[in-house]
Amino acid sequence: MPLTAAAAAREILTGLHDVMASRGSTQAKLDKVVDLIAEAMKSEVCSIYLLRDNQLELFATHGLRKEAVHLTRLAMGEGLVGMIAEEGRILNLAEAASHPQFVYRPETGEERYHSFAGVPIVRLESPVGVLAVQHAESRRYEEVEIEALQTVAMVLSEMIAAARLVDGARRGRVRSGGPLRLSGLKLVTGMAKGEAVFHQPRVVIEHTVAEDTEAERARVYDAFRRMREQIDAMAKEAEFGTVGEHQEILAAYRMFAYDEGWGRRINEAIDSGLTAEAAIERVQQRTRSRMREIDDPLLQERMHDLEDLSNRLLRIVSGRMGTAAQTGLTRDTVLIARNLGPAELLEYDRRRLKAVLLEEGSLTAHMTIVARAIGVPVVGRLQDIRHSVNEREMILVDGDNGSVIIRPTRSLASGFDHRMALSQKRRAQFAAVRSLPAITRDGLEVSVMVNAGLAEDAAALELTGADGIGLFRTEFQFLVSATLPGRERQQRLYSKVLDSAGDRPVTFRTLDIGGDKALPYLADAKDEAENPAMGWRALRLSLDRSTLMKAQARALIEASGGRVLRVMFPMISEPWEYEEARALIEEQIAWARKSKRKLPARVEFGAMLEVPSLAEMLDQLLPRVDFLSIGTNDLTQFLFAADRADPRLAERYDWLSPAILRFLKRVLDAARAADVPVRLCGEMGGRPLETMALIGIGAENFSITPAAVGPVKAMVRSLDASAVRQRLEQLLSRPPRNLRKALTDWARKHSVAVS
Ligand code: PEP
Ligand code: MG
Repeated sequence: MPLTAAAAAREILTGLHDVMASRGSTQAKLDKVVDLIAEAMKSEVCSIYLLRDNQLELFATHGLRKEAVHLTRLAMGEGLVGMIAEEGRILNLAEAASHPQFVYRPETGEERYHSFAGVPIVRLESPVGVLAVQHAESRRYEEVEIEALQTVAMVLSEMIAAARLVDGARRGRVRSGGPLRLSGLKLVTGMAKGEAVFHQPRVVIEHTVAEDTEAERARVYDAFRRMREQIDAMAKEAEFGTVGEHQEILAAYRMFAYDEGWGRRINEAIDSGLTAEAAIERVQQRTRSRMREIDDPLLQERMHDLEDLSNRLLRIVSGRMGTAAQTGLTRDTVLIARNLGPAELLEYDRRRLKAVLLEEGSLTAHMTIVARAIGVPVVGRLQDIRHSVNEREMILVDGDNGSVIIRPTRSLASGFDHRMALSQKRRAQFAAVRSLPAITRDGLEVSVMVNAGLAEDAAALELTGADGIGLFRTEFQFLVSATLPGRERQQRLYSKVLDSAGDRPVTFRTLDIGGDKALPYLADAKDEAENPAMGWRALRLSLDRSTLMKAQARALIEASGGRVLRVMFPMISEPWEYEEARALIEEQIAWARKSKRKLPARVEFGAMLEVPSLAEMLDQLLPRVDFLSIGTNDLTQFLFAADRADPRLAERYDWLSPAILRFLKRVLDAARAADVPVRLCGEMGGRPLETMALIGIGAENFSITPAAVGPVKAMVRSLDASAVRQRLEQLLSRPPRNLRKALTDWARKHSVAVS
């Protein structure tokens, strides 16, 4: 036997390279390949089984009876060969016939052989065949021999895929076989189906055998260097809290990126004659199959980190760094990612993007808010989703229940279609309610507006049935731009929004950047401290960067010429911040007057209450504002001291908690006493049960996500406002342990349409 795996594989690979380059039918090539491997490994038998029509068919053999070729077929999971393919594992047996899975096929004449070793032939992480060797004598194969077989199997997979010999070779086959159901956290409701697309696509390896080993080695060195630079940069940013990845993931990335063993193994694979891409993949396959034997969840998690990194290295080495958004979507798509930022989401073609599945994600992260605004269902916290599905496999997404079905059977798919039709019917019913007034059974008029951030949202205002735009998030324009939008671009957007809103009021919120809305081109916004949500963001940043705010003020003033300008400021912690912001806008109005520009007919100033400290200063603030807007997303994160973007806290605290409702009630009461209108504009107000509770503490004005207008109006129209107020008074004076349940029971008993 040759001394090293690399030498053994190299000898075979050189031969394979010639075979692949030669003329002739694929069958003839496969026949040559088995002869070549048998000879190099001094093996009496070498056989190749390939997956065709869901069966593993003997395609070529050296040593077994030739008559058995294309005749012997095994189902997935059947016999030793079926077991290797189904489980994607290696078998190395001194005595094949004594293995419980062994099945004897007389036509092959294999009874003479005792030892058996087989490895899966894998394409896109899924087995598409098996390469096996057999010996007459009874012995276990050495590790180097198995490794050589694996390397050869990898090259074979390229050849087989190129010849399109197997099912699904172009697509990747089901790894675990049948359909798979996973449950996660529902972030944005709605049902959808489509093909799985990875936000960071996997690289399909096209060439496995190297022409020039030294050149491949140089490519890997270079890729390693670039990968380390990237990881170091990410880790540095994470110290400043501006990237989404968690510190522990980055720590693991760094550990692997600098792991010498990993680099050495890739180098060895290159020595055996593989290209840089194939060597990275080959090492990854080996690690994968080793890890599969170890049943330790912690290690499995680390394994995923290594997979991520390995994919990153592959993308670097093959020069395919773009996301799926850059490649473009071609069919109805279910996008899969570990996590996603709002700007990344907005890069996708909305006609094709049907749903998003995340391993992380939380209810009030801005990516979730954006997805909700554009009507894309999202399920989060789907552990392992990226490793449970192959690219382009069908996925059914039930965002209403937070569940997904991967690779559905026909009956699962038809059941889903039925539920989807029902859900659409319900939506249609809500759509009918959308245009009706939001009046409670006892005559309380509730104002329902929508949150928006893009020109399209404003254009669709008519369809939503809302009374106006209660919160226009101006930073969305910044998030979707590659460069800082100048005053004119901003002005064009604001004019368009006001034009499409017509008579309906629009409230613009000045820039709220920073936190989880970092702008890559605004370098200073990245110099964040440890906790970006509490950092230099929103109004804090705008007041310090007054040029930015002045440009926005001018854009708003000019766009509102002859109309009412409603403007509010985010993240006010103390009244003086409001005063400064207001003064800045007033200065710009004075400038516009002096320069004889067309002025707004009237300006209304509002403050957002989303930092708890401001609630203590309402006596000072309320006389100075025209309206108040409560941002429950930030407010609750600060009240509970719970990061709104942290998936681990996503379900820990409930909006329907006595603490939040009591707090909000105090603010609502104070504003009423001062005769200042209040609008609730966080995500909380768009959830019928929560909206019901908010009406119960005296809220009457809401600005919610457009898709919630129908359900919220339906709830309002089925509600008796005075009854719910009474109930809330009782519940908040002596809060039950589970307020959500108490409210759900009450709603059910009083036939309030909350679900
Ligand atoms: C909020 O904090 O509730 C809010 C409406 O603003 P944003 O979600 O954009 O921070
Ligand atoms: Mg906010």
